[in-house]
Amino acid sequence: MSGGLAVSVCYIFDTSIFERTWNMRGGFIRGLFDIDRRDFLKFCSATAAMMGLSEAYAPKIAEAVTTAAPRTPVVWLTLSCDSGCTEMFIKAKRPSAAELILDVLSVEFNDTIMAAAGEQAEENLKNAVDKGGFILVIEGAMPTKPGYGTIAGKDMLDIVKEVAPKALAVVAIGSCATNTGIPGAAPNPSGLISVTDALKPLGIANVNLPGCPADPKLLVGVVLNYLLFKKLPDLDELGRPKMFYAKTIHEQCERRSHFEAGRFVEAFGTPEMEKGYCLYKMGCKGPQTHGPCPTIRYNDNASWCILAGAPCIGCLDMKWPDAQSPFYGRLAGVSIPGFGGVQSTADKVGKVLGAATAIGIGAHAAATAAKGGKKGGGE
Ligand code: SF4
Ligand code: SF4
Repeated sequence: MSGGLAVSVCYIFDTSIFERTWNMRGGFIRGLFDIDRRDFLKFCSATAAMMGLSEAYAPKIAEAVTTAAPRTPVVWLTLSCDSGCTEMFIKAKRPSAAELILDVLSVEFNDTIMAAAGEQAEENLKNAVDKGGFILVIEGAMPTKPGYGTIAGKDMLDIVKEVAPKALAVVAIGSCATNTGIPGAAPNPSGLISVTDALKPLGIANVNLPGCPADPKLLVGVVLNYLLFKKLPDLDELGRPKMFYAKTIHEQCERRSHFEAGRFVEAFGTPEMEKGYCLYKMGCKGPQTHGPCPTIRYNDNASWCILAGAPCIGCLDMKWPDAQSPFYGRLAGVSIPGFGGVQSTADKVGKVLGAATAIGIGAHAAATAAKGGKKGGGE
C-alpha cells in the first residue's frame, strides 16, 4: 500500500489502524496479528463459515493471510456512485476487513481516499496499471452518455476499458457497479451501464458483489478464496460468488418461523413489531433477494435490517431498486407448492402457511418465477 493512502485513510478514520499499519510497514515494534490474535482467529472462523467452509479451514485462512507475500496489488476505481462501498470498507471495525485487506492487499490506487490528487493521482494510477498483476475493484456504474461522468477529462467508461484488460481479475463491488443501483434507477438519465455490460464487448468476465453498500467481508472472502485455492470462487449465472449469494434472505431469516406460522406485523409501532413477527406484509423483499445479510450482519456484526425491525428492501438483488419499488409495497403473487400452485396474496399466505410449516418461500418464489407469475421483479 502506498504510504499516502495509509496516512489518508488512517489519519482521518482510525489512528490505531494507522499506528499498526505504519509499524508493520516500518518493520518494527509489533505485528498486526499479535495485537488482536483472538479476534483475528474468531474472524477466520466466521470467514470460513461465511465461505461455506468447515471450521477446519479457519487455521488455513489464518495461515493464508499471514503468509501472503507479496501482497496482491489492488486498483480501486470509484465511478458513478456515492462512494458508500469505500466508506463501509474504511469504517469496518476490528478485527476489521480493512485491516486484513491492508495486510493481504496492496491498495495502489483508490481515488476517494488516497492523499494524492490531480496529476499526482493520475500518475499513481498509470504506474499501478503499468506494473500489471493487479486486481481491479470497480465501485460505481459507467455513464454511456459522453460527458456525464469524467475523471481527468476522460469518460469513466473509457477508463474502465483501458484498465480492465490489464487486470488479473475484475471485481464489481456494490449495486451501482453490479447493476447500476440507485444512480441507474429509471429513468437513468446518464444511461448508466454495469461493469458486466461494459466488459462484455471486451470478452472480460467479472465477479459481482451486489449490495448497497456491499460489505467488505465479501471482498475479503473472494480474496481469501483466491489465496486458499488459487482461483476465484464459483460464480452463478449473474457473476455472484455462489458461496455468498446462493440462498435467499428469507431462507436464513430469524423471523422465518413467524412467517411459517402466519404471524405478521400489520403496522409499524405495534406489539407485533415488538414480538419480532414476520415483516412480509410490511413490504419485505427477503423472499426474492439472494445474499448473506443474516449471517454476515452489519455495523461490526451487531445487527442487520430485519433484526433491527426494517423490512428488507432487496438492495442485494441484481434488479434493485426498480424491481423492488415501492420499498414498502407488499411483494405480490406468491405461489405455494403443495397447494395446487395457488397464486396467493400475503393474507392467504399467512393462513395457509399456518398449517404448512415445512414449506419455504424461496421455493415459492422460484416456482412462481418459473411460471412467470412473480410480480415486482427480482432475479
Ligand atoms: S418475509 Fe422477510 S421478515 Fe418474513 S421471514 Fe421472510 S425474510 Fe424474514
Ligand atoms: S437485508 Fe435486504 S435491505 Fe438489508 S442489506 Fe440485506 S438485501 Fe439490503
